[in-house]
Amino acid sequence: MVEIVVLSGKGGTGKTSLTAAFAHLSYNHIICDLDVDAPDLHLILKPENIRTEAFFAGHKAMIIREKCENCGICQEMCRYGAVSEISGYPFIDQIKCEGCKVCVSFCPSNAIDFCEKQCGNWFQSDTRFGPMIHAQLFAAEENSGRLVALLREKAKETARQKKLDLILSDGPPGIGCPVISSLSGASVAVLVTEPTPSGRHDLERVADLCAHFRIPAGVIINKSDLNMAQADSIGKFCAQQGLTLLGRLPHDPVITHAMINAKAVTEYDQGEFSGRVAEIWNEIEALSGYKSIKLMNDNK
Ligand code: SF4
Ligand code: SF4
Repeated sequence: MVEIVVLSGKGGTGKTSLTAAFAHLSYNHIICDLDVDAPDLHLILKPENIRTEAFFAGHKAMIIREKCENCGICQEMCRYGAVSEISGYPFIDQIKCEGCKVCVSFCPSNAIDFCEKQCGNWFQSDTRFGPMIHAQLFAAEENSGRLVALLREKAKETARQKKLDLILSDGPPGIGCPVISSLSGASVAVLVTEPTPSGRHDLERVADLCAHFRIPAGVIINKSDLNMAQADSIGKFCAQQGLTLLGRLPHDPVITHAMINAKAVTEYDQGEFSGRVAEIWNEIEALSGYKSIKLMNDNK
């Protein structure tokens, strides 16, 4: 089974639009949206939900009013300022609570419940391009790295059950915990960048991460005609770092028109831009080993 993760180092580079196009161009695959803090692949793929599960991570402390003796110890002991007083009773602010359990341990009346915290939901869905695993974290919730790991596990489980050869993931932006969680053990990372100083900087950071985890990586320079000199410089950087330059794409409003119409660009338009995206997908297939699996299947 091949696992391809599309990353960008920052948002707004066209990562999700390109992932949708790759989902359209490939088959016998499962699609995974690992951008759990701000998922948007569903806006293009319009998934039909077939399963919803709660995602629990960490714990939250809650005061049981009937048992509370109002001694004030919990407020004194909480280092995070999560306990305040409302109408003469202690109250725990769930956003400030870090789930450290100190108040639970010190409460003399056993009046603080310490239950698992639901941080979001994850979903299994069907789309016109195949099955999809995705999620939504609740506002201000953390633990996105753990949710990413869970989604990858569920995607692998489903791929095994359905005998699918490819997991295609839209990864999170940045280089933080969710990105690390989406990268480790992947077959290949596809890094989408744009020819700006910040695009270059973010590409360098995410390329370092790939090198650290020894994940082969390929680069797509999107909107490359907006700054040809910077695009050339990124091309040189790729050659120096041993990154495969998968291709350059011009700035083309067709990608926005496709998105407005909730279509993958290759589905919406069969012009030159989509032709270039198809060529890039061909390169990704070769880099990831997915092409060999396809050839083996075709020869069976
Ligand atoms: S420590 Fe326990 S008994 Fe004391 S105020 Fe807090 S919840 Fe109530
Ligand atoms: S669990 Fe920790 S952070 Fe939360 S209210 Fe209790 S002491 Fe404060």
